[in-house]
Amino acid sequence: MNTPFTERPATERHVLPYGSIEVIAGCMFSGKTEELIRRLRRSQIAKQRVEIFKPVIDDRYSATEVVSHSQHRIASRIVKHSSEILAHANEADVIGVDEAQFFDEGIVEVCEKLANEGKRVIVAGLDLDYRGKPFGPMPYLMAVAEYVTKTMAVCMQSGLPASRTQRLTASHELVVVGHTDQYEARHRAFYEPPEEA
Ligand code: ADP
Ligand code: MG
Repeated sequence: MNTPFTERPATERHVLPYGSIEVIAGCMFSGKTEELIRRLRRSQIAKQRVEIFKPVIDDRYSATEVVSHSQHRIASRIVKHSSEILAHANEADVIGVDEAQFFDEGIVEVCEKLANEGKRVIVAGLDLDYRGKPFGPMPYLMAVAEYVTKTMAVCMQSGLPASRTQRLTASHELVVVGHTDQYEARHRAFYEPPEEA
């Protein structure tokens, strides 16, 4: 009989060395990080080698873990630049990236390279910023991905599905790293774009 999949040595565990890019995109509180962690955990259960990265700018909750608003967590590596991902991804079968909107534009090429090398790349990030504009490299990642999942939150004004992130403070900085009291998920009909700075 065949040796069970999870008992085979890592070198023999690859089903097929064909990679792909999956993007999980949506507003704040829409469950992007939860979904990323869910997919990565399943890979870990199958004893695939998983590496998770997040940009240095996101210092919420934990320095060395990716943590969802619902306190799901998974160990991760913090990197300053997308090129650092390549240096740590060699041995991995599956690559997870959270808060991808904060990465430099090189993240697109990095994800493509990893997928072309046969790795499964799963990327989560905000599709839109607080002004309702496409956020950093996310539109490009969504374009090159094989799979795009749009997640939605619950609109805090209407209870409808929420696709927009309402900033509740008057700051015009693009990056005000999120806490629950500064942002709210909103349906497009209840979203109020900020006044131009
Ligand atoms: P994201 O990474 O998209 O910001 P998370 O995965 O970190 O989202 O958190 C999702 C969790 O946030 C939900 O399971 C829920 O517990 C919580 N949450 C807080 N506010 C909302 C909201 N308005 N709609 C849905 N979930 C919310
Ligand atoms: Mg998140």
